[in-house]
Amino acid sequence: MPKSRLRVGIGYDIHRLAKGRKFTLGGVQIPHSKGLVGHSDGDALLHALTDALLGAAGLSDIGDLFPDTDRRWKGASSLFLLKEVVARVRRKGLRVVNVDAVVLAEEPKIGPYREKIRRTIAAALGVAPGDVGLKAKTMEGLGPIGQKKALSVTCVALVEKTGK
Ligand code: MG
Repeated sequence: MPKSRLRVGIGYDIHRLAKGRKFTLGGVQIPHSKGLVGHSDGDALLHALTDALLGAAGLSDIGDLFPDTDRRWKGASSLFLLKEVVARVRRKGLRVVNVDAVVLAEEPKIGPYREKIRRTIAAALGVAPGDVGLKAKTMEGLGPIGQKKALSVTCVALVEKTGK
């Protein structure tokens, strides 16, 4: 049986929310009283997406490629790291087909920024905004996410072998 040209990957990330930080999700800055804590900009959506792409491409993971002990990545934009990984995926002879993400957050409301986030991610991946799925759900007040202490993201990515 011929080997499939398609490969799927999954990524997950969770970051704490704290006052005094900018809230950046999917490469888009959203006005909010708290922001995501992290070595870089704390963009959990882009981190989960980056890991999903790495998984699909059979590469390692974001923590291995861009360790937070390496000064080169201190304060790095997650969008920059994502584009770096997209370039690596392409060098493996793969192109992105589509991605889909679920954001778990009590606040802020992601809906008003959904299209901007989809366009931002689509541009970084070289796909159409329609190939970027994004859903936001609350935890109905349950657990640390429900108590507004954290935000988590699960993401899947499908890639396809290009050429013969
Ligand atoms: Mg992260």
